[in-house]
Amino acid sequence: MENFNNHLLWDILLAHAGHDVTIAVYGDPNDPIDVALECDDCNEVLLDADLYTLAARSDLDDADC
Ligand SMILES: [Zn+2]
Repeated sequence: MENFNNHLLWDILLAHAGHDVTIAVYGDPNDPIDVALECDDCNEVLLDADLYTLAARSDLDDADC
């Protein structure tokens, strides 16, 4: 698999398509210690901003991979 991380995120999000997902804020709402994307249907954390960093895709305009 040439781009493991993107495929993994794809699979994680796709598995919860149509589910009830929430952005959960932990700690002080004005100065949170953590923000996470959680699936309420599965009681599962999909993305934890304390653990993961997302960036805009940069491969769309690039011919080289
Ligand atoms: Zn789910």
